[in-house]
Amino acid sequence: MTTERAASETGDPLLLTPGPLTTSKRVKEVTVHDWGSRDATFLRINDAVLARMRDVVHGGNEFVTVPMQGSGTFAVEAMLTTFVPREGRVLLLVNGAYGHRAKRICEIAGRQAVVHETPEDTPPNLAEVERLLASQPITHVFAVHCETTSGILNPIAEIAALAARHGKRLLIDAMSAFGALPLDARELAFDAVAASSNKCIEGIPGLGFVICRTTALAATAGNATTLTLDLHDQWRNFERTGQYRFTPPIHVIVSFHQALEEFLAEGGVAGRGGRYAENCRVLIDGMRALGFEPLLADRLQAPIIVTFRMPADPRFVFQAFYDKLKDRGYVIYPGKLTVAESFRIGCIGRLYPDQMRGAVAAIGDILREMGVSSLKPAKAAA
Ligand SMILES: *Cc1c(COP(=O)(O)O)cnc(C)c1O
Repeated sequence: MTTERAASETGDPLLLTPGPLTTSKRVKEVTVHDWGSRDATFLRINDAVLARMRDVVHGGNEFVTVPMQGSGTFAVEAMLTTFVPREGRVLLLVNGAYGHRAKRICEIAGRQAVVHETPEDTPPNLAEVERLLASQPITHVFAVHCETTSGILNPIAEIAALAARHGKRLLIDAMSAFGALPLDARELAFDAVAASSNKCIEGIPGLGFVICRTTALAATAGNATTLTLDLHDQWRNFERTGQYRFTPPIHVIVSFHQALEEFLAEGGVAGRGGRYAENCRVLIDGMRALGFEPLLADRLQAPIIVTFRMPADPRFVFQAFYDKLKDRGYVIYPGKLTVAESFRIGCIGRLYPDQMRGAVAAIGDILREMGVSSLKPAKAAA
């Protein structure tokens, strides 16, 4: 039997993953040039990128974007180790792998952390957060906007309000939500937000960003635990010279500039987030119709990535399912991050509702091919 194979604009399988993700052809095409890192043409492009990133969160004159070479985690580590001083104490709100990663960063950097952990399908307990803020000498709060482990949307506005009420500084890992879910500096108070080039702005990987409240950043001199991840030094150097301290990923930045153009042309956060929400709805409705169970309740689901419970039927062999789906042009995340037996399908990147419908149809065909009769998970939904 021959099956039709889905493909991106460049003929590649579609990435239904949380990033790196499928990008437009143009985003890759604009990189076929050379630029010097101190060249005025490149630096102008870089300046525009930094200004636009700040504009995505309506940061205005009070905020500055500091780029950080590397993947998103480099930006998160730079944010935590630059903003939380040695004598500080950060409350980490953890409900997945990225929260755990922040904890590890703090351990290595010798930063005191208080952890409020909830299960991966459960948002933080705000009453407990309030009790911790009132009873401990906490200086900063760290929260993940969309915890990509499960796809859960954390209540960032409520967390910001609590932090503000108790006079604590908020640091946000917005990585997988940035550009798709609203985050507005005029409406909620934060000192820093971390994002990266290869998520919802649909660029290629290689650069992180921390959008910083300038007054808070100015007070961080000497906090950093490494030379490379020192946001204060990176910022001061831009102020002095307009240039990166160390070799920037020039092609990534030029490509990201194009990605931002396409993001704005699509209508910014409302347009991009709207397409992802539709992708997510098509995916969840289609998978439910086939019999799959999403891990999260609908009200907790961010339109970024969806976790489905692993069916108990022994004929559902995940690796075979994954391979067959890839043969049809759909690449899903090849493993589980959650504690629960599950697999994940992303709905971000240069993907459209019709392609999500195609993915669901391919999954239906594969289930028939594998002879899977029931998609009931092993244990009843928690
Ligand atoms: C993708 C992501 C990161 C960064 O991961 P990298 O692999 O370093 O790019 C951090 N936090 C969240 C919530 C993410 O989704």
